[in-house]
Amino acid sequence: MDRTVASGAADGGSTPLRNVEVYMFKLIDGNSISNDILEELKNKASILNVTGKNRVLVDIFVGDDEASKVYIENKKKKFNFVGLKFNQVNLPSNTTEEELIKTIEKYNNDIDTNAIFVELPLPKHINEKNIIDRIDPCKDVDGFGIKCLGSLIQGASSFFPCTAEGIIELLKRSKIEISGKHCVVIGRSNIVGKPVAILMLNENSTVTICHSKTKDLKSICKSADILIVAIGKPKLIDDSYIKEGAIVIDAGIHRSIVDGKKVICGDVDFDKVAPHTSYITPVPGGVGPMTVTMLIKHCIDTVNYE
Ligand code: NAP
Repeated sequence: MDRTVASGAADGGSTPLRNVEVYMFKLIDGNSISNDILEELKNKASILNVTGKNRVLVDIFVGDDEASKVYIENKKKKFNFVGLKFNQVNLPSNTTEEELIKTIEKYNNDIDTNAIFVELPLPKHINEKNIIDRIDPCKDVDGFGIKCLGSLIQGASSFFPCTAEGIIELLKRSKIEISGKHCVVIGRSNIVGKPVAILMLNENSTVTICHSKTKDLKSICKSADILIVAIGKPKLIDDSYIKEGAIVIDAGIHRSIVDGKKVICGDVDFDKVAPHTSYITPVPGGVGPMTVTMLIKHCIDTVNYE
């Protein structure tokens, strides 16, 4: 989608224009790309159903975290659309680590379960790392277990963390060249920052990873051809961090209520940044929809690991 930007008007004219070219940026439309992939996956799922290889995901939810409930409903809708079976297993908040591990082992050994997903966050008395590593790597569709992360480092095929893989898919389907580009990733979490940095490296990008202790963040970001932002701080990145014509991917999601209305924004100040980019993801409708889509892709891909 092309967006023509009138001189200095992207934020209503409140920001003085820098003495630079104002780009005609393209929106990377995550909703549209995600819908295309879901249609492709629906076709694959119907072929698997015909051949008796229909896929079943077991989604284990411990406790009553409200954000997880919304996420589960969103996932269920997409699984239904594609035609995959979504088995929700609810466990009470006082479930012990041992009980949860027993539940995972039951589904690891169940030949009718192809994929296992444990909703995070878990209640505080349960050590997430102990749990995630108990999932059979052939069923670990979230890609957070140590074997999947090891494959990521080795560049071997496996399930990779969904948001990170979704970002690569957005770039590729937007026909953006990754090889040889300088990619700066802000954020080093195990679920977004680190895996996306390694995936970009595996795609032959030259990668710099930044975090809260990075000195002179701005000047590093200004050297990025591709800037991937996964900080968890609303609108922290403005145009002073951007090289003219850069590609900007915003993984952040922040929900708030402003004047009684629900507002969603990312880690990037879109209005200030977009006019200086060649491509940018919006929030909402950029990286967000790709996470569940990649999860569904992984469920279908479990057929390759049997
Ligand atoms: P996280 O675990 O809190 O990690 C944040 C990272 O940002 C950390 O590595 C931190 O550095 C770094 N950071 C924080 N403040 C910084 C600053 N001022 N300058 C430079 N680096 C800074 O967050 P996350 O789980 O990766 O999530 C990041 C964002 O992505 C959040 O907004 C989250 O909601 C969103 N998200 C979206 C999806 C999706 O489906 N689209 C999925 C997951 C997450 P240190 O390591 O030094 O603390």
